[in-house]
Amino acid sequence: MAAPIQPVRGMNDILPADAPYWARLEAEAGRLLGEYGFRQIRIPVLERTELFSRGIGEATDIVEKEMYTFLDRNNEQMTMRPEATAGIVRAGLSNGLLHNQQQKLWCVGPMFRYEKPQKGRYRQFHQISAEAIGFADAEFDAELIVLSARLWQALGIRSVRLELNSLGAAAARADYKHALVEYFSRHADRLDEDSTRRLGRNPLRILDSKNPSMRDIVERAPVLREFLDTESIDHFTTVQNCLADAGIPFVLNPRLVRGLDYYSRTVFEWVTDQLGSQGAISGGGRYDGLVSELGGRETPAVGWALGMERVVELMRADGVALTEPAPDVCLVAVGNAARRRGFALAESLRQAVPGLVIVLGQPSAGFKAQLKRADRSGARLALILGDDEVASGRIGLKDLRGPGGQESLTEPELVVRLRKAKQPLE
Ligand code: AMP
Repeated sequence: MAAPIQPVRGMNDILPADAPYWARLEAEAGRLLGEYGFRQIRIPVLERTELFSRGIGEATDIVEKEMYTFLDRNNEQMTMRPEATAGIVRAGLSNGLLHNQQQKLWCVGPMFRYEKPQKGRYRQFHQISAEAIGFADAEFDAELIVLSARLWQALGIRSVRLELNSLGAAAARADYKHALVEYFSRHADRLDEDSTRRLGRNPLRILDSKNPSMRDIVERAPVLREFLDTESIDHFTTVQNCLADAGIPFVLNPRLVRGLDYYSRTVFEWVTDQLGSQGAISGGGRYDGLVSELGGRETPAVGWALGMERVVELMRADGVALTEPAPDVCLVAVGNAARRRGFALAESLRQAVPGLVIVLGQPSAGFKAQLKRADRSGARLALILGDDEVASGRIGLKDLRGPGGQESLTEPELVVRLRKAKQPLE
């Protein structure tokens, strides 16, 4: 026997037992996004590396060390997308969707980051992303946040809180970066290796440091709030008012900066304590500079992405119980004539009874083995066909979960019975 092929580290198989959670998440998200006017877009997994180095920022963890980048057969540098925003904006520009137009777009799919795999952190993971491009007003920042709050509610997720911050406009952030560099340079001896590297390239990210030995200098660092420009303050106030009016509690977190370079003004994250150290289930913010960075006109935009693995995990942790549907009917057909009749019957029942799940047992096996298989399939009913049934034109119906015994029905009677069983309870 050949040795089994090993799966790739950090890349998961999503098994059938998990499928109902994924399906529920996609269905609820799609429904809600639609209700807020978002339309679905599907974009490639592979893009030119330049899209992400420009779009996400050279000095970010993602671009510096996490991208799956390779030369294709034509020696062009390609990257497996680490997030969707840059690709959605690129698609908008490539297809002329952003020319004097506003677009509310969403997409779902796998993302790739070469991170250290651990619980909740994988190298292939999935996101649902929503982007409102061409929208400057604070109501749209708030709307995206409210939409996600309603999604958690629809999914049965309770243990989650909203953290909120404003990064201000570009000029204010530049002043702030200056102040941070000055402050952290004064404490250079206390910085760990990562932070020392970030000091020159992306000082805001030092605030993100989880290193306990740096906690006190991070806590005493200058806060961005004191640098904010008036328009950004007004914008942020409107966001907060909208959230308050919608009854959505939030915590202001002045150290929330997020890993990507392109954010400005509002940034937010939905965080849980249920999943250990990887507690962010979703995050986003305003990125007014990205469209022009990628070659379009100055265009305001705001968006978020949620991590589907973490959301599914949190649904489970919050006690949401979903099971795979069992078949309704398993066919037990014994003998050549019955096998032939059974195969055709299953097909005609699938057509006649919408939603009916009917499976074949093991046509080549004997009666006992087939009945056992029908029982193990989890089906509620077995249809039984043997020489007698073929001769009489009737079909045996056995309730596998009932007291025993068997009825004998014609095909039209069976169709009526199965349709009734499939009808939703009034
Ligand atoms: P980001 O694009 O980094 O803002 O991430 C948005 C969301 O995607 C996060 O809140 C996480 O829920 C999820 N996420 C990010 N990176 C990973 C990863 N490596 N594995 C699983 N989920 C992730």
